[in-house]
Amino acid sequence: MGSTANGETHPSLHSIHWFRKGLRLHDNPALLAAATDCHRLHPLFILDPSSGRAGTNAWRFLLDALRDLDRSLREMGSRLFVVQGCPEEVFPRLFHAWGTTRLTFEVDTEPSRDATVAELAERHGVKVIREVSHTLYDTERVLALNNGKAPLTYKGLQSLLASLGPPEKPAPTLTLEHLQGEHGVVDWVSHDTEYGVPTLEELGQDPTEVGPHLYPGGETAALARLNSLMDRTAWLCDFKKPETEPTSLSPSTTVLSPYLKFGCLSVRTFWWWLDEVYQGQREHSQPPVSLHGQLLWREFFYTAGAGIPNFDRMVGNPVCLQVNWDNNPQHLRAWREGQTGYPFIDAIMTQLRTEGWIHHLARHAVACFLTRGDLWISWEEGLKVFEELLLDADWSLNAGNWLWLSGSAFFHRYFHIYSPVAFGKKTDRDGAYIRKYLPVLKDFPAKYIYEPWKAPRAVQEQAGCLVGTHYPQPIVEHGAASKRNLGRMKAARAQKGNKSPRRRPPHRPPLPPTGENCLAHAPAAFYSVAKHRENRGELSRKRLFSLPRPAAAAGGKAIIPPSSATIQ
Ligand SMILES: Cc1cc2nc3c(=O)[nH]c(=O)nc-3n(C[C@H](O)[C@H](O)[C@H](O)COP(=O)(O)OP(=O)(O)OC[C@H]3O[C@@H](n4cnc5c(N)ncnc54)[C@H](O)[C@@H]3O)c2cc1C
Repeated sequence: MGSTANGETHPSLHSIHWFRKGLRLHDNPALLAAATDCHRLHPLFILDPSSGRAGTNAWRFLLDALRDLDRSLREMGSRLFVVQGCPEEVFPRLFHAWGTTRLTFEVDTEPSRDATVAELAERHGVKVIREVSHTLYDTERVLALNNGKAPLTYKGLQSLLASLGPPEKPAPTLTLEHLQGEHGVVDWVSHDTEYGVPTLEELGQDPTEVGPHLYPGGETAALARLNSLMDRTAWLCDFKKPETEPTSLSPSTTVLSPYLKFGCLSVRTFWWWLDEVYQGQREHSQPPVSLHGQLLWREFFYTAGAGIPNFDRMVGNPVCLQVNWDNNPQHLRAWREGQTGYPFIDAIMTQLRTEGWIHHLARHAVACFLTRGDLWISWEEGLKVFEELLLDADWSLNAGNWLWLSGSAFFHRYFHIYSPVAFGKKTDRDGAYIRKYLPVLKDFPAKYIYEPWKAPRAVQEQAGCLVGTHYPQPIVEHGAASKRNLGRMKAARAQKGNKSPRRRPPHRPPLPPTGENCLAHAPAAFYSVAKHRENRGELSRKRLFSLPRPAAAAGGKAIIPPSSATIQ
């Protein structure tokens, strides 16, 4: 597969392209490198069952994306090979079985096992090619420009990027022309059995737990979504993030985040297409509030995640304020389950649990409520819940934004606390958003929809919902809780040198749960449920755990933040 300028391939060149994020054929330079002059290409995705927190909705998104990728490759006579196991164990066997000489993959800025895999490949005489395409810029280069340190302000990042010029243009999409070499014979039937994309059940997920299929995964859906957004010139040019509405019944921002997270959509493709739209217009909004500005926020947190040790935790994170957060499992559960008694907060958490996506300012509201606002619970707990429930859960972006919202890093106007009552009212006085996600409250008059506990008993009876019986009383009193927490925050900040040492605490595992897979790893339950089913004979042993047999080897083919602060 793949050909030289004179149309020849090297019979000895056998590539594996390792998909993790970057689940696409467009702007995928590592995939193109794999195809170049290549006699046989194995597009590979490894499902790693070691650990992870992703919920069913996110799994569905990933499986959609893998099926879409397989469909696109199939149209060119190739297929996606899905193999389960740990990359360190999988690769040596694949190298041997497939006679691999070249391994390509996209640079991952998150802590990962890439260095181990690269070493392992080199030991097997396999050449490794890595290409940057998940971010607009090469974060290593940006860090090097800043003496190895991550910029801690958006403006700081902007000035570094200005010295690098605009982001690179997207690489050409992989087409049949890139795959012109001799094709391996794909046995379509055995391919599905041995390397097919598994189902949710096969991953130990309960398919009845998924919510409405609002954002189907995959490159095709990503490009269709981008395409239709790019037709809305006026909207794109007027886009100012703080003016979009968290309470809108249909999304008021792009919802491209799950596609960017999994790399179904290239950020460079998004950037340059938007640039074209801007070019034709006299005026358009600017960073940090414009859509280009949003992509720079993404870049900001990726760079921070790549440059700051222990970015996703408090201890050992040198930029993170050290706070003595409370341990209150009951409050944490109430927040997670949308049972705080504050309808705005509970509606957001319900939308998150069922649909897997919530507006940025809705994230602000619930994150502030959990941490410095009301419950004084560690941002790391919120991060874990988001990691499970968000379709776009992204290691760098999730940690960076939780650090920000909890007042632990980047953001210093900690005294601006979102009111769980007043904030939602700003854009939705009647509470339509609450009525949609909390139908138990749908018949409350607008006057009480944000504070149903204040409604007289007769009003509650008329609405068919007694607070304390059908819907909880508030778990804290916002006024008193936020005042107390403000004092605690001031005290934490006042402590001299309240920054964590750079050392990683010894009890932590060496890697965060996001590893080689873009969905982090499979949940712990996955391995055991799958094993259990296998034992019951419901799944073929090969399908779940096997690596390829040599025979198969031939088959290769608001409170709106004040304007003086940088708004994110
Ligand atoms: C506590 C908290 C946790 C978050 N966790 C995540 C996460 O895990 N994954 C994630 O993608 N975003 C996260 N965000 C950032 C932001 O809320 C989402 O990126 C955004 O709401 C996604 O919707 P959209 O695609 O419609 O965004 P748009 O407004 O349409 O923006 C376009 C793209 O810009 C990027 N972007 C926008 N805002 C931010 C931001 N603040 N930081 C970084 N990138 C941004 C995203 O890639 C987004 O898709 C978090 C925000 C908060 C407050």
